[in-house]
Amino acid sequence: MSVPEPAGGEGVKQAKEVEDAEKYSFMATVTKAPKKQIQFADDMQEFTKFPTKTGRRSLSRSISQSSTDSYSSAASYTDSSDDEVSPREKQQTNSKGSSNFCVKNIKQAEFGRREIEIAEQDMSALISLRKRAQGEKPLAGAKIVGCTHITAQTAVLIETLCALGAQCRWSACNIYSTQNEVAAALAEAGVAVFAWKGESEDDFWWCIDRCVNIDGWQANMILDDGGDLTHWVYKKYPNVFKKIRGIVEESVTGVHRLYQLSKAGKLCVPAMNVNDSVTKQKFDNLYCCRESILDGLKRTTDVMFGGKQVVVCGYGEVGKGCCAALKALGAIVYVTEIDPICALQACMDGFRVVKLSEVIRQVDVVITCTGNKNVVTREHLDRMKNSCIVCNMGHSNTEIDVTSLRTPELTWERVRSQVDHVIWPDGKRVVLLAEGRLLNLSCSTVPTFVLSITATTQALALIELYNAPEGRYKQDVYLLPKKMDEYVASLHLPSFDAHLTELTDDQAKYLGLNKNGPFKPNYYRY
Ligand code: NAD
Repeated sequence: MSVPEPAGGEGVKQAKEVEDAEKYSFMATVTKAPKKQIQFADDMQEFTKFPTKTGRRSLSRSISQSSTDSYSSAASYTDSSDDEVSPREKQQTNSKGSSNFCVKNIKQAEFGRREIEIAEQDMSALISLRKRAQGEKPLAGAKIVGCTHITAQTAVLIETLCALGAQCRWSACNIYSTQNEVAAALAEAGVAVFAWKGESEDDFWWCIDRCVNIDGWQANMILDDGGDLTHWVYKKYPNVFKKIRGIVEESVTGVHRLYQLSKAGKLCVPAMNVNDSVTKQKFDNLYCCRESILDGLKRTTDVMFGGKQVVVCGYGEVGKGCCAALKALGAIVYVTEIDPICALQACMDGFRVVKLSEVIRQVDVVITCTGNKNVVTREHLDRMKNSCIVCNMGHSNTEIDVTSLRTPELTWERVRSQVDHVIWPDGKRVVLLAEGRLLNLSCSTVPTFVLSITATTQALALIELYNAPEGRYKQDVYLLPKKMDEYVASLHLPSFDAHLTELTDDQAKYLGLNKNGPFKPNYYRY
């Protein structure tokens, strides 16, 4: 059965689903469970007839900032200045004598292992997927080349992929976000990882190249966050695509690039758009930002929110999350929007919708979350009051016109890591965070649990693409079948001891649903 294309995704294809749930072998296992909609943690051992899986959000984080121009996670306990020798110049081997990696310092592996263990605590769904599927090894024979943030949470994903039978070679999608000790722990565990915090642009591409260009090993799956790896393979090693079974991409930017390739008829393998999965967009963008906006602001400025006037530009998923968190702490929140629907939502949620120019003189904090450019202009910055804090939660550093602040009459003073005071001739100071780059990834960490959801989605997308029979997926960009989105959610419910209600036969018939899902049509908006 064909399903409608989701709105706004020109060229987006949703894989067939519903009655064909059984086609997805792991789903078949789930749906065959007697009298249960979904099997949960306690049933793990039953889950051995499983084909594939992979995952991690790049924090994604959906949050992925992919280019070498991006900044990221402050989560590393080591910084790049602890040793001036480039990792590329060092001879390092792990305890098994392997030197098939390039990290800052392999001696940090033990510390990194503890970081990974901490992340595992809050990624129980991914771990449960690992346990359920490792008997079956659904990724046996998979050779995955990956390019994502390298953090403790990604490490849990990578190690899950390995436990399911995959061989992995990994580089970082961001020159600043690598946790060096985690990269060391992965290298010690035998993963071919090429990444360190503070790579140069040349290092960045060198690391990607080392993952792809290796004698006797050829990737057959790509897991990308931002599209740089995919781009590199297209540019340098197009023949590699002869063996690639699919690309899984998590970021807005990377997905956009894939659609461009598809439109130009140049996409030569199937690709899975993880970014637009419900379990990514509704959780990573909304809940992750709801939790991390305050963290980023507090760590950098120690600001108190009660009674403060804050303007949030953009009331999409990220904006909604930020507004909810700020309101809960007693801030007076204004919203700016271009879209009447989102503006009306903001009104109904109790926020004043204004033009930025109407409130710019009075607000204490300005936060951009639009994905757009020049939302905060030099004119706005000129009119801000003394000590106004300005930051961005959108993907790229285009939302605040930071370039316009680099003029001779303004003085920049670095007061803390990622915090600049920009000083006007009359002494007014504006507090600019992370130079207008993504605040939460630059200045704080993001919640592990959310990353588990994205990682599980990525894992399932890899498993699905790797095991799909010839012809199920063409050379196009697909969304993860809704059944799998629901499955990802179901895996995370036991963490809350949440108990799902099961449809009766009569109810299922009345609603025209399969008792085991999917429970919503593809156009449902959640
Ligand atoms: P979205 O499309 O749901 O929301 C963006 C909103 O901004 C839309 O409602 C749009 O109408 C509005 N907008 C656009 N231009 C505007 C303008 N000039 N003034 C006011 N409003 C304007 O997108 P989203 O999911 O909320 O993501 C927003 C950005 O945040 C994207 O760049 C995304 O990549 C990024 N993101 C960040 C994180 C993070 O952890 N910081 C997580 C996910 C996504």
